[in-house]
Amino acid sequence: MNQEPSLVPCPTCGKSVSWTPASAWRPFCSERCKLIDLGAWATERYRVPVVEDKDQPETAPPGETPGSRS
Ligand SMILES: [Zn+2]
Repeated sequence: MNQEPSLVPCPTCGKSVSWTPASAWRPFCSERCKLIDLGAWATERYRVPVVEDKDQPETAPPGETPGSRS
């Protein structure tokens, strides 16, 4: 039996994308659409107003580097 690849709509532009290993960016049709979607997501997150912690310094320590504790 010859199995046809499933087609899924790109979440960004709606274009049909073959759900196969060849489609590296599935369910997006391209890297561009994937980045657009991720960008929209980030924008949503940044919309959360930050009004608290005015006393706290803005810069948080960027995590410990592995191996720094001895
Ligand atoms: Zn697309």
